[in-house]
Amino acid sequence: MNCPYCDHKNSRVIDTRSSGKRIRRRRECEHCHRRFTTYERVALSNPMVVKRDGRREEFDRDKLAVGIRKACAKRPISMEDLERLIDQIEADVYRLGKAEITSQAIGDLAMNRLRELDELAYILFASVYVPITDLESMKQEVDRLLERRKRD
Ligand SMILES: [Zn+2]
Repeated sequence: MNCPYCDHKNSRVIDTRSSGKRIRRRRECEHCHRRFTTYERVALSNPMVVKRDGRREEFDRDKLAVGIRKACAKRPISMEDLERLIDQIEADVYRLGKAEITSQAIGDLAMNRLRELDELAYILFASVYVPITDLESMKQEVDRLLERRKRD
């Protein structure tokens, strides 16, 4: 960052302090020797979510959480496990490192995690998300789960 006084490019860090997610650096300009402070913050850039109808919106953990909580509402899953699940899905999304991700891809990530945690919650989520609209496709999903269980 350029010196705010003389616009010189280089400064020397004379003190660094970290508090939580913020780092404060005291700097001295190599040219005019005046001192100034800079702050650094972790910035994860949110990917854009491409929805089914082509609209885009910034990825929002809260929206993801609403869908997951709804699917898990009647299941014996602790708040702690639920938060961990949402954290994992969020981390999966960031790990893809894409600027754009389809809402379908996010749903798939969520379903993969849910399936491991609670099979019924998985079905409930899928019923809204896939969406499962008739008994036949519901049965298909359940059969698929039972197949997996046999394999594991
Ligand atoms: Zn300067």
